[in-house]
Amino acid sequence: MTTVNLLDFDLDSLAAFCEQLGEKRFRAVQLFRWIHQKGASRFDEMTDLARSLREKLPSVCHVAALPVLSRQDSTDGTIKWLFDVGGGNAVETVFIPEEDRGTLCISSQAGCAVGCRFCSTGHQGFSRNLSTAEILAQLWHAEFFLRRHLGKTERVITNVVMMGMGEPLQNYTALVPALRVMLDDHGYGLSRRRVTVSTSGVVPMIDRLASDVPVALAVSLHAPNDALRDVLVPLNRKYPIAELLDACLRYLPAAPRDFITFEYCMLDGVNDQPTHARELLHLLKTHGGRGVPCKVNLIPFNPFPDSGLKCSPRSVVLQFGKILNEGGLVTTVRKTRGDDIDAACGQLAGDVLDRTDAARRLAQRRTVVEQPIRFVSSTGNQQP
Ligand code: SAH
Ligand code: SF4
Repeated sequence: MTTVNLLDFDLDSLAAFCEQLGEKRFRAVQLFRWIHQKGASRFDEMTDLARSLREKLPSVCHVAALPVLSRQDSTDGTIKWLFDVGGGNAVETVFIPEEDRGTLCISSQAGCAVGCRFCSTGHQGFSRNLSTAEILAQLWHAEFFLRRHLGKTERVITNVVMMGMGEPLQNYTALVPALRVMLDDHGYGLSRRRVTVSTSGVVPMIDRLASDVPVALAVSLHAPNDALRDVLVPLNRKYPIAELLDACLRYLPAAPRDFITFEYCMLDGVNDQPTHARELLHLLKTHGGRGVPCKVNLIPFNPFPDSGLKCSPRSVVLQFGKILNEGGLVTTVRKTRGDDIDAACGQLAGDVLDRTDAARRLAQRRTVVEQPIRFVSSTGNQQP
């Protein structure tokens, strides 16, 4: 008999599940806390549950993590996991420790259907949506691994960014319960401002997120006009910039902060010229009459094989940022971290498995992970 994975449930769904078993809501709360606050996966560990319930649970449910294909530890404390999600697919999760916080970058899909020109995940194409359990298993595994690894008893992950592989707002049904568990005081207890959804601009889902679970929003803009954005982010043909910025303005009243973060990947000679900066400044300062309250995060492009693109020189990135800053837009450049593992945004699909020949690629992946490669932090737009 197949049993359900309790990582698939937010607290309300778990309470409904428990009710079907004839159990009261407080039992669901206990169970939920064992799983998400103590990292328990075996019911016999859950000592304050009635013995009869502990004995009944294994026949109807389980708590299943994702198999870890590899883990890479950077000398600066950054850790990257490659999780097996079956069928030859794998997704990556990255932990980035900083002085005052620990950020986990989580994947929402195996591959991505948006197909952004500069993104390795996009080049891989779309494989499938992750389930709520597969999204949460990344957090669950990372949090309790890190507690053991670092010898900590309190929470290690203080921030979550949905900036791994995939477009979270194209996997909305699975995303929302996962976000709820992250925010739940009986779950991970993260505040809404410490959980960020990054989107390439799925306009209707931005509106739904505002009413369902309004966490911090990052929007991947990458271009100051539709002609260029149509090429870089193909979803723009469906939801052009003006509609996207209108959605940002509608989101703000619900948002945990009074600004939207715009991400802008700096591509040499493509979108990085002073004219682009001035056009972007004008757009963000005037859209809708009064502009969009925002911060801009410039991301140096992380190259991957066959992209045909190059990262803008540092001086060009700084000049671009200066124009925006001087025009009154708070702008930061995403910083580079260690040099020894490959965990940069947009590169996360670089080693995703070829679905037609998973075993061979898996074997290759295991050797690849041993090699030192460059790392760029993916938390530049995060606030504590
Ligand atoms: N699909 C979502 C979230 C995942 S991508 C989105 O697009 O927002 C996370 C961030 O990494 C996005 O801002 C994306 O534009 C950026 N990114 C993708 N490929 C990149 C690359 N090669 N170099 C730098 N940033 C990249
Ligand atoms: Fe998908 Fe985001 Fe990559 Fe675009 S940048 S292809 S939306 S993961």
